[in-house]
Amino acid sequence: MSNWSKVIFFVLSVAFTMVLGASIPAQAQAVQYDLLLKGGHVIDPANGLDKVADVAIAGGKIAAVGEGIPVEAAGKVVDVSGLYVTPGLIDIHFHVGHGGAPLNWFAPEARSQTAPLGIPADIALMAGVTTIVDAGTAGADTFLQEKEEVIDRAKVRVLAFLNIVADGMNGGLEQTVDQMDPQLCAQTIRKFPDLIVGVKTAHYWTEKPWDALHAPWAAVDRAEECGRIANVPVMFDFWPRPDRTYAELILKKMRPGDIHTHVFAQQFPILLADGKLNPILTDARRRGVIFDVGHGAGSFWFRNAVPAVKQGFIPDSMSTDLHMGDFTVLSMTEVMSKFLAMGVPLEDLIRRSTVNPAREIRRPELGTLSVGREADVAVLELLHGRFGYIDDGYARMDGNVKVVARMTIRAGRILYDPTGQSMVEWEKAPKQYFTTPELGSSPPARADNYPRN
Ligand SMILES: [Zn+2]
Repeated sequence: MSNWSKVIFFVLSVAFTMVLGASIPAQAQAVQYDLLLKGGHVIDPANGLDKVADVAIAGGKIAAVGEGIPVEAAGKVVDVSGLYVTPGLIDIHFHVGHGGAPLNWFAPEARSQTAPLGIPADIALMAGVTTIVDAGTAGADTFLQEKEEVIDRAKVRVLAFLNIVADGMNGGLEQTVDQMDPQLCAQTIRKFPDLIVGVKTAHYWTEKPWDALHAPWAAVDRAEECGRIANVPVMFDFWPRPDRTYAELILKKMRPGDIHTHVFAQQFPILLADGKLNPILTDARRRGVIFDVGHGAGSFWFRNAVPAVKQGFIPDSMSTDLHMGDFTVLSMTEVMSKFLAMGVPLEDLIRRSTVNPAREIRRPELGTLSVGREADVAVLELLHGRFGYIDDGYARMDGNVKVVARMTIRAGRILYDPTGQSMVEWEKAPKQYFTTPELGSSPPARADNYPRN
């Protein structure tokens, strides 16, 4: 071929490819995705993503993340411009209801029963949370009940730290050292490796003098022994005393990867007398100790949190410690908002609410929007205004920023969408919405058939 014919051939082939290329999508893109979240600001720290992009979901999995995914390729398109799209949040300190605190405790017949601690697991969905980890509400003797009553039924993914106390938290045996059997604990963890991610110890001997049956470190040592046998991390709820110091816990007792929850509770020496951050915290961090918020009704004080954050000490993971006693804490997004108001950037908080907790519980497949992973997604909105935040000492901190959940998607299903982000304006709804079904048992007249429960 002459040079000219080469050029002409090249131009023709490009033109032909373009025509063909343009005609392919119309056929092949019939419907590739079930759901397309269009134009949101995607923050996916696990993949280093922090920019405007689309997220496509198919078959309950993340199918594509990128710019300019065509709307024709999706069965359902949700405009999320102006909002943040992140992996579903992970709350590693939660207390689900079981064993006397059934899922339906809002019902009158349930209220007459004792409901000491746990709350309905699916409440977590209201804050963009798609995975919760029960923090030792159940022990070896009560875990099966927790599994059958909550874990197997919840829409939110429920994992668990197993209490070193075989009876767990609900039965009044938390001070009984004989209840803390490392072998039984480890056996139970091995029986449920998909569900139990670690060991929990809490509330042990915080008031009375030591005696023959209650050594200072009994609960900590036995929880650690179970953690070693089962090769899982231990989460510590701890009360320091002269014979049982915080420094010894985080610098000697805890192994790398173990988690100290409730880090900003009143009882920890977070600050020195001069207001400087206690160097034992950074020393512990250097040896791999993890610090978790575990806000709860009694474990978060601004007097510890604000100066620590100002000096650069931010807990590795956000978490609520949501239980019956702390409805003032409300939610994961409320906990995150407090740190946002203290000046921690949103991207950083998403990291500490997704990829970090996933790593802490050794479930790296969670907390990410990687293609192929289960489509657990949170759509969040950043609000600016005047907001009051409270701590457990009944003190307030004022802030001008807040993050709230607008949608929660779990395995591709839209389980929470209270403002109708994914719904059509009612007057524009298709005919089926205006058609009254004949029977009460018929499927209700709905504007779309996308799975929402
Ligand atoms: Zn707790």
